[in-house]
Amino acid sequence: MGQPGRVRTVAVVGATGSIGSQTLEVVRAEPDRYRVTALGANRSVDALAALACDVRPAVVAIAEAACEADLKSAVPPGTEVRAGPGALASLATEADVVVNGVVGFAGLPVTLAALEAGRRLALANKESLIAAGPLVQRARLTPGAEIVPVDSEHCAVHQCLRSGAADGRDLSTVVLTASGGPFRGMSGDELAHVTVSDALAHPTWSMGPKITVDSSTLMNKGLEVIEAVELFGHGFGVGYDQIEVVVHPQSVVHSMVTFTDGATVAQLSMPDMRLPIGYALAYPDRLRTPFGAIDWGSLRRLDFGQPDLEAFRCLTLAYEAGRQGGTRPAQLSAANEAAVEAFLAGRIRWVDIAAVVEAALDAIEGTNPDTVDVVLEADRQARAAAALVIEELER
Ligand code: MG
Repeated sequence: MGQPGRVRTVAVVGATGSIGSQTLEVVRAEPDRYRVTALGANRSVDALAALACDVRPAVVAIAEAACEADLKSAVPPGTEVRAGPGALASLATEADVVVNGVVGFAGLPVTLAALEAGRRLALANKESLIAAGPLVQRARLTPGAEIVPVDSEHCAVHQCLRSGAADGRDLSTVVLTASGGPFRGMSGDELAHVTVSDALAHPTWSMGPKITVDSSTLMNKGLEVIEAVELFGHGFGVGYDQIEVVVHPQSVVHSMVTFTDGATVAQLSMPDMRLPIGYALAYPDRLRTPFGAIDWGSLRRLDFGQPDLEAFRCLTLAYEAGRQGGTRPAQLSAANEAAVEAFLAGRIRWVDIAAVVEAALDAIEGTNPDTVDVVLEADRQARAAAALVIEELER
């Protein structure tokens, strides 16, 4: 990798989602440097086939086996079609860089396959790291394997860390910024009455409903704290005590690193996911196309403040689960998914999300996630525990 003049090949898994389509835009902007050789999606046959006709990859894959015939008949002649449970992960060996934009836990096999194949993983699927950190760390030891984070905060930290020592010995704290979501500054009383549509109105980022609700509860930031320890804990020695969360409503500073000499290095740009995606493709170089560049003449102010840990308890719950380690982060994430689903379905109130997660975690215990099956069982157990709490709340 990195030889000048050579086109870098890219596999886009989760191609029909938001990360996928923005990856294709980045590649389209620099066709002399990147070429898409593989596309994969969960079940959106028509959208995937349309992309295949446009991009002309060598291979397309669909996770839903029943979609195979439809996909075969819709892609350009000569395109290899793979279908079924292992199809998405099989794309890992088809390119230099594997972009994992799969939503949720289903992204884990793609993460493991890319690392075990010794490829660069451009990782937008945070669930892989949160649910199965120890398994991912093991796969990451494969020669050639590397993770370049596509989550905007972690991509920012990755950039900031490049100005310090390679082993992180001069690092003091990692400062993750949080927009604070739509409910920033609200009191407990006000929060008791917020609705689903209030929670889905994110002020700065446009994302899917699950992650938008997670932003409103600060669970997204809590999961990102765990993600940061998994990403930077090993190489740079970052632990939970060194990660600080700061509310920054403009979402222009994507995160910061403070070094032992008191210097803070921050990464700034307008909120645009094409920048972290392009960074992960180009690293250690830079894209030549400026996605998200700041207009300094119109940027008036940058505000920072402490998160309200009493009103937004999910953040504290995430720190606790992260410190406990093992399967606790997997259980936290699964219980939260169940709670957010119940909130979106109108079954529980917004304030109940943290209560459901806490009660579900109290009802079960953690263990050591040494296989994917253990992680799956922890996930199942946490969802079941959350379902019981949700039923009780409905009574
Ligand atoms: Mg993020």
